[in-house]
Amino acid sequence: MNLVLLGPPGAGKGTQAKRLENRHGIKQLSTGDMLREAVSSGSPLGQQVRSILENGQLVSDDIMTEMIADRIDQPDCAAGFILDGFPRTVGQAQSLEALLVKKGTRVDAVIQLKVDDQVLIDRIVGRFACANCGENYNKQFRPTKVPGVCDVCGSTEFTQRSDDTEETVRARLAGFYEMTQPILPYYRDRGLLYEIDGLQSFDQVTAEIEAVLSRSSAAAS
Ligand code: AMP
Repeated sequence: MNLVLLGPPGAGKGTQAKRLENRHGIKQLSTGDMLREAVSSGSPLGQQVRSILENGQLVSDDIMTEMIADRIDQPDCAAGFILDGFPRTVGQAQSLEALLVKKGTRVDAVIQLKVDDQVLIDRIVGRFACANCGENYNKQFRPTKVPGVCDVCGSTEFTQRSDDTEETVRARLAGFYEMTQPILPYYRDRGLLYEIDGLQSFDQVTAEIEAVLSRSSAAAS
């Protein structure tokens, strides 16, 4: 099964994608994570995209499509994948469709997580992760049980993304409305789009995504 999670930054795509990966054995592909890894490794791609990420702008469609095309060819995507952060433009959606057709496969469902802007800003500016095990937290919505100590591994070291500032978040949101919102009619026309209220609890959002998956796999069989 191949899924796309769509939604503005901070809508909860990463959290839901990880849950789906664990439950269904389909691979989460976060283009943001791949780009951040490229930047921290100092690779030629990383050097090329560093300032784009820092300013909250979009990396070119060509670079992104090539990155995803290589990634979905890897054996860990054989059972399917969850795209988290891709496609982000209509051009990327079209390239994705073309490359999946060539491989004899398709996107099975596109899940849009809808969240109010101010909630998004609070979610993003407050988010942080354990530097040791990667568990995600939020100062306001999901603090650690013991202040300064990771609930999962007990580490006291935490990290925050350098692009999670209010200024960059506003630029990323503006980019989302301008470039990514037009993807919605593209997928709606193909009967693939499902809208879910991302302001519900994480568990409720997961339950609604699972209901969509059951419906779309029943429709496919
Ligand atoms: P994210 O972790 O999804 O919020 O992505 C972080 C940053 O990576 C974005 O602000 C963009 O600069 C870049 N990025 C991630 N995915 C894409 C994409 N599909 N197209 C263009 N740029 C992207």
